[in-house]
Amino acid sequence: MNEKKPILGKRYQRRTDYHNYIVGERAKARSSIIKTVSNCRRLSVPCLCGRDDESLLLATIDRWGIPSNHLICMYCGLIRVSPRWDHDTYRRIYEGHFWSLQTGQSNITRERFNLSIKRSVAFARTIFEYVPDIKGMRIIEIGCSYGAGLQHLKGKGALLVGYDFDRDIISAGREFTGLNLRHGGIREALNEMESRYDFVILRHVFEHMLDPFAEGKLLRDLVSDDGLIFIEVPGVLNFFKWSPDPIFIFNTFHVYSYCLRTLRQVMERCGFSLIRGDEHIYSLWKPSLTINISPWENRDEAMRILAFIRPMERKRLWGQMLPIRIYRQMRNWIYD
Ligand SMILES: [Zn+2]
Repeated sequence: MNEKKPILGKRYQRRTDYHNYIVGERAKARSSIIKTVSNCRRLSVPCLCGRDDESLLLATIDRWGIPSNHLICMYCGLIRVSPRWDHDTYRRIYEGHFWSLQTGQSNITRERFNLSIKRSVAFARTIFEYVPDIKGMRIIEIGCSYGAGLQHLKGKGALLVGYDFDRDIISAGREFTGLNLRHGGIREALNEMESRYDFVILRHVFEHMLDPFAEGKLLRDLVSDDGLIFIEVPGVLNFFKWSPDPIFIFNTFHVYSYCLRTLRQVMERCGFSLIRGDEHIYSLWKPSLTINISPWENRDEAMRILAFIRPMERKRLWGQMLPIRIYRQMRNWIYD
């Protein structure tokens, strides 16, 4: 166990008593996960930029109250979990406990599906802003869950296919949407495809990938040479917009946490170039003729991310201690 202190302070250390929002099915799932990982193999991983020196420890506990080390690389700004569990352990948890941890429910219900449909509206709006006409396109979503995102793309003349590893969620999704949802991930999709896809969608999937270079290269085989890839991940520089609490940045299942720049560095090394994107992160990519292997060193980005997270924690503390009206006045005075 790493005994070092996280730079964000005591609240980000290995203890779960700050996590009183984890209750019911979530708390049960967390206990099962902590039990499952108690004897698993842990791997120390260098940053994707190749460096493992000069990483700062941000937290030793995540948003769920699961002990895990979250580091920021001071060379490039990428946040990673290290050491992390091995591939089989992640796989077992995704199959057995992840759904309950994420949703707080043990069953897959139509109500939950309807909620996901609502939550996918911004995704669908962005897709049609980026690619207004999808008619005739062969579209695949990897990690489609029960198809709430694909459901928004129905009726526009595109061929839609989704893949996910969770058999229960696929079968519920087939019932809810009538879509062609299949079991598996990128490898299964490659094995079963008749020809390359025009448009590949990954929503909240890329940050879970243990080996983004390997998976990214497989994506290159899945998409046609003039095709497109859409990637949505929770942008590190966007967190304050939906949560004023930095603990939510840290998620054991997000083995890498990206800003647009660090995502671009990974994608360029996999043979893609950015068409457009923002710090949400919504991003659109196309295959490129060259692979960018230039060094990543970008200390400015690391400083920018630290300069974003640290005040976030200070704001949270102020917010807790003062009546909200006074807090807002103080906040405007200090930060605006
Ligand atoms: Zn790095």
